[in-house]
Amino acid sequence: MSENKRFCLDLSLNDLILWCKDSGVPTYRADQIYSWLSHGVFDTAEMTNLPNSLKKKFDEDFVCKGMHIEHEFISKIDGTCKLVYSLFDGHIIETVIMRYKTGISVCISSQAGCKMGCKFCASAHAGFGRSLTSGEMLGQIVLSQRHINERIHSVVVMGIGEPFDNYDNLIGFFKLANDENGLNLGARHITVSTCGVVPKLIEFTELRSQINLSVSLHAPNDALRKEIMPIANVYGIKQLVEACKDYAKKTGRRITFEYSLFNGVNDSLAMADELVNLLRGVHCHINLIAANEFDGSPFRRSTIRNVEAFRKQLQAKGMNVTLRREMGTDIMAACGQLRRGIEQKETQND
Ligand code: SF4
Repeated sequence: MSENKRFCLDLSLNDLILWCKDSGVPTYRADQIYSWLSHGVFDTAEMTNLPNSLKKKFDEDFVCKGMHIEHEFISKIDGTCKLVYSLFDGHIIETVIMRYKTGISVCISSQAGCKMGCKFCASAHAGFGRSLTSGEMLGQIVLSQRHINERIHSVVVMGIGEPFDNYDNLIGFFKLANDENGLNLGARHITVSTCGVVPKLIEFTELRSQINLSVSLHAPNDALRKEIMPIANVYGIKQLVEACKDYAKKTGRRITFEYSLFNGVNDSLAMADELVNLLRGVHCHINLIAANEFDGSPFRRSTIRNVEAFRKQLQAKGMNVTLRREMGTDIMAACGQLRRGIEQKETQND
């Protein structure tokens, strides 16, 4: 963080109480500041119940203007809202706000860019900037809430970045989001998605949390998975599925496997059968995705007919399966697409 100062949203209430004590300020001020931060107000000028001397001290000690909304895009098709945030050091991240019958869900980024190199992903093509702090993950939610002036019901850590590649900050984020004095978001309302960083998945299992786990699979065997996702060269599919089984067993939570369908690549009925054999006995649900396309992607989305046939084949063999509803297709709502577009434009304008 700039000049080694912490971003104000990285502070827990306890951190703020300690800071107040160290600064000779009454500790009830910590509650006041924490309440402002939890409501998406970071600029001390807007914290109307604080004395100017305290605002000045807080500004001196922490980064308070480290995050703001740079662009907003709203889908004319379904109202999905994509916010592009600029961070204190110029990095750009994306957050997507989606409206469902069950409530409002927000998809947040965990890193500015990603190192994992999945071939189908726009984030991978845009390169890696840095990992986000816990507060920068939380900030995407509280600023989104403030922006739409509505309560966010659930959060998925499925935007730009591999969350398990930023493990400590991710766990810090869960604690901040959970805090009943702050956002007070229950674990069951949070989902984390990984491409399969097995050692971290095992570590995560040992927390025995009730957070939902989603795993990007996209292929039923190692040979094909290696062609799509470089992480498969490090951790084999059997090792990954074993770790998932263990997660489901120890937490009692059902895992979601994400499977994007690419035309002529992983969408045959034989592959559907292979997938069934791989996941048989795992407490899971398969989420099929008619893959997003972007310029430069080597894959094309499956035809509607192939998607339907694949889904039916899985269902016929007794698997729980859904087809993910596409949202915000007119505003490039899939992971990393906007960031990549904006950075390309900025490069062209240089
Ligand atoms: S799909 Fe996820 S893990 Fe893979 S490159 Fe994209 S952001 Fe990274």
